[in-house]
Amino acid sequence: MRPLQVRLIAWIATGTLAVFCCALLASNLYAIHRVTQYSKKYLKGIARKVAEITLAAGAGDQPLPAPVAEDIEEHLAFLDSQQRLAVAVLTTDGRVLYRSERFNVPLDQRLLRGDRSQLRLLGVQSGPEVSDALSEWRFVFRHEEAGLIVLVCDAHHFELAERLTEGGLVAVLVALLLAVPTGYLVSRRILRPFDAIAQTAACVRRGDLQARIPVVSRTPEVLQLIEALNATFAELEAAFCRIRQFSADAAHELNTPLTALRGSIEVCLAKERAPEEYQTVLADSVQEISRLSGMVRDLLLLANPGSAERRAAFSPVDVQALVSETAERLSVIAEQSGVRIVTEAAPGIHVPGDAMLLHRALYNLVHNAVRYSPAGATVLVRSAPLDGAVAIAVEDQGPGIPRDHQERIFERFYRLDPSRSVGTGLGLSMVKWIVELHEGRIEVDSQPGQGSRFRVILPTGSTAPAAG
Ligand code: ADP
Repeated sequence: MRPLQVRLIAWIATGTLAVFCCALLASNLYAIHRVTQYSKKYLKGIARKVAEITLAAGAGDQPLPAPVAEDIEEHLAFLDSQQRLAVAVLTTDGRVLYRSERFNVPLDQRLLRGDRSQLRLLGVQSGPEVSDALSEWRFVFRHEEAGLIVLVCDAHHFELAERLTEGGLVAVLVALLLAVPTGYLVSRRILRPFDAIAQTAACVRRGDLQARIPVVSRTPEVLQLIEALNATFAELEAAFCRIRQFSADAAHELNTPLTALRGSIEVCLAKERAPEEYQTVLADSVQEISRLSGMVRDLLLLANPGSAERRAAFSPVDVQALVSETAERLSVIAEQSGVRIVTEAAPGIHVPGDAMLLHRALYNLVHNAVRYSPAGATVLVRSAPLDGAVAIAVEDQGPGIPRDHQERIFERFYRLDPSRSVGTGLGLSMVKWIVELHEGRIEVDSQPGQGSRFRVILPTGSTAPAAG
């Protein structure tokens, strides 16, 4: 048993017992009080009747004549068939006029010099042993009237009170015996979710990422905790799968061109060649190596996003400058492909962001638009305010993207036609990551043969209101 369980058992048992004992004590005290009250009234009535019989018989200071004593005993027998009542009649100076056989309370000064009407609890010696003296108790009612003291001794009502006390003690004992098992059962119920959580956490630690905490409790707070932990485990599993997939994809994407590169160099070195041939192979290799190092750079960025730190370093970025600078940087490539880049950027719009990353995102979009456009086509880059945000659209007249590919082009290494693609397949996933880092969204609207329109919507935040 664990220390917490032992402590819980102790708390539950003590609490249960304390409440039980208090309730029992209160009810017993009340019951005993009622018995005492009733007994007082009852015995007083008997004492007065005995005094009345004695006085009617004209008793002086001599022992009562037998018929009077019989009258008294008859009256007692009438009231109590079990013969638990006894009386003694005395003069106020202590002379005994009558004493029932069963009246075994010592007639000492306590009884002779008491109040006029008084109920007392007295011990009587019922046997020679000391324990007998301790075990027998009586209610004794003292009544004084017209020079007589009538003592009525009642074993019955005291026994009733005694039974109540005994019953209470037995109940406490039973409660004590039940409190510990009850505490054990309740503590097990309370601790069950903790056991389930610990077991599942151990499974996850051992590598079973699919392990989930079973719903072992209906308590809303515990349910909430289990759901939150299960959601965390699910996210952990998804993240782990993503990382695994990412590593596998990255390894594959790097391995294929590296193998090709090595192959072409080995073929080149296999025999003596003309200097021009070496130059061609080296130039191709450099191009491929720079593409691969770009891919590695992108992979490093995607693998270590550090969103919180990046957001903390955001500063206002001028969207108009962003658009014109990107178009400027790509103008040479566009010219070589015979593509024209046209910009229409609204002035005075700023977004809170990382200028380097935003340049990178727009560069990727415009670069794709240029790459996939035929010679003579136009690429249009526009920015306009949009309800607390800015919309930056890149439109081209390229081949378009079929609807069923439009979601997937944002996945890492996804390419519509890998054999024809010149890129790494990381461009759009990088754009999506950058846009989401800026709490924006990216949409694509495209139809095969009718060009594509990529639209990035970025919140302008409070740094600069969107200009009209
Ligand atoms: P890549 O480096 O291969 O271009 P991206 O992630 O940038 O990788 O793009 C993924 C795929 O989406 C590309 O291989 C291409 O097939 C398609 N694509 C992206 N932009 C366009 C566009 N403007 N027109 C047509 N197809 C596009």
